[in-house]
Amino acid sequence: MTAIADQKAASKRRVATLAIWSIVVAFVVTALKLLAWRMTGSVALYSDALESIANVVTAMAAYWAILVSHTPADEDHPFGHHKAEYFSAVLEGVLIVVAALLILAQVWQSLRNPLPLEEPWPGLAVNTGAAFINAAWAWVLIRNGRAQKSPALVADGQHIMTDVVTSFGVLAGLVAAVLTGWHLLDPLLALLVAINILYQGWRVTSESLSGLMDRAVDVQENMRIRDIISANSKGALEVHDLKTRIAGRATFIEFHLVVDAGMSVGESHVICDRIEDALKAEIPSVRITIHVEPDDEAKLPRGTAAVPFA
Ligand code: ZN
Ligand code: ZN
Repeated sequence: MTAIADQKAASKRRVATLAIWSIVVAFVVTALKLLAWRMTGSVALYSDALESIANVVTAMAAYWAILVSHTPADEDHPFGHHKAEYFSAVLEGVLIVVAALLILAQVWQSLRNPLPLEEPWPGLAVNTGAAFINAAWAWVLIRNGRAQKSPALVADGQHIMTDVVTSFGVLAGLVAAVLTGWHLLDPLLALLVAINILYQGWRVTSESLSGLMDRAVDVQENMRIRDIISANSKGALEVHDLKTRIAGRATFIEFHLVVDAGMSVGESHVICDRIEDALKAEIPSVRITIHVEPDDEAKLPRGTAAVPFA
């Protein structure tokens, strides 16, 4: 094994370990939040707990998706297994909608019949403890994610951090409800939580749907790819029909490379390999397909020094 392969394996193990611990932490936090809800009967704490349950299932699905998406390409899936990551994201979106509907049902009940919280202070203390555990874990994920250069881990950590902010908002509101005796504040807070998680669910789901729809790379990345190809295609005449698509971590690139009709297969292959190597050096998990064509397939007139894009 090379040093780079060793490093990659170590980083993959580390990401997998963090994913497992995410599940454990999510279980503990969820149990505490459910306990706080049972102690108080608060709809807002119920909504907070339901969001955590959605997080537990999501964390498990995300772990499964990481394992599957890292499986190398095989006969059944010759393009790799990257899209597994979108399944977990779509599942997250669906769960969040279910959680929001359950919360809305409770909010409706409570708005018609608002009740004071039972045992408010011990219940709020338990929920505060859960929020602190979550905050500490979010910090660990963000720190490790930055060290490992894993945007997925950083995003996980930031997601948990937004949950923590929501939790503290709910707690502050409930403290106000207990102190003022305005019981309606409880279902109203739950309503805000439901709206917030619906928004998050919509965002996650729309992102994964664009991945399932074979969305192209963004404009900046497209320009970068064009620059890399141009800089490394000396000897070719033209590049056209560049197509890209993103599947999880992987970027797929294909294009036509026009060369002189008299060029040998060997010579044109050298150009292809040079472009492929340059793209692989710059873009992680890239798959490249190049279709070589003779000059009568060119779309632009001949004669410029640099390789023109058509
Ligand atoms: Zn062509
Ligand atoms: Zn080749």
